[in-house]
Amino acid sequence: MPTQTLLRETNRSLDNTSRPGRPGLDELVPSRYAQKVGDIDVLVVSDGVLSLPGEMLGHNADPAIRAAWLKDMFLPPDTLEWALNVVVVRSGDRTILVDAGLGADPDLNLPRAGRTVQRLEAAGIDLGSVTDVVLTHLHMDHIGGLLVDGVRDRLRPDLKIHVASAEAEFWESPDFSRVSMPPGFPDALRRASKRFLKEYRSQMRTFDAQHEVAPGVVVQRTGGHTPGHSVVRLASGGDRLTFAGDAVFQVGFEHPDWFNGFEHDPEEAARVRVNLLRELSTNRESLVATHLSFPSVCHVAVDGDAFRWVPGPWEY
Ligand SMILES: [Zn+2]
Repeated sequence: MPTQTLLRETNRSLDNTSRPGRPGLDELVPSRYAQKVGDIDVLVVSDGVLSLPGEMLGHNADPAIRAAWLKDMFLPPDTLEWALNVVVVRSGDRTILVDAGLGADPDLNLPRAGRTVQRLEAAGIDLGSVTDVVLTHLHMDHIGGLLVDGVRDRLRPDLKIHVASAEAEFWESPDFSRVSMPPGFPDALRRASKRFLKEYRSQMRTFDAQHEVAPGVVVQRTGGHTPGHSVVRLASGGDRLTFAGDAVFQVGFEHPDWFNGFEHDPEEAARVRVNLLRELSTNRESLVATHLSFPSVCHVAVDGDAFRWVPGPWEY
């Protein structure tokens, strides 16, 4: 390439920084990552980042040990920068959106998240091409994208939304007695789930223990985080990948017994986490999770009586 052209190209790409309200093709930092699992296409899409109080990562942990962990991770002592990932899965003739990001809730002051819809567009995925939505659970950061103005009208009328029956039941009268969320969150979560159930009930397809959404794509209820929390297991051609939703957080490898502030049944959530991490370390499959750093594709290793996060190499 002649020098002038190269300079022009370089200048243009340097100029293409992310602009609020205009995330898309011109973003400097990539917001999507594609991976194959046998014949299944997987695309991890970043909804953005949530800034939450540090104590949320383990409200049953000794504050000094929690602060030391944050320091060891080169994180600030009081703020947890939480990635927020969704996944698009293509298998057979189905295009499946797994979770939908935060959407918009200006009351909660989380301006760096809620970009799923624009980023799907930037990835060339038309909302009208989505045949199925799988919801790991009905917390706002997983359903909010479906509540953004105008989104419902762009979705197919025959869209199927798969969610565990226990989850739909739970949100009829949710129990927040065991959570430790920042002020304002319980009300916002109640509002969002109520609105979701009202607007989308006719499209919901509930399942009890598990359901095969497409060839090799199985949604499986775990409970714990919420009573109907589910994970998505992908298997094709000897390859396996699990999207763990909120069963696993970054700190959960080293401290699987720390209670996350958003867990409605923390003891059960910890049991679910340990069982899942143990299984993934044994069968050596890939893990992707909502709140692990983008693109979050990793493996799980056993490390003494806890676990170790082993990030996967980027596959260019
Ligand atoms: Zn979440």
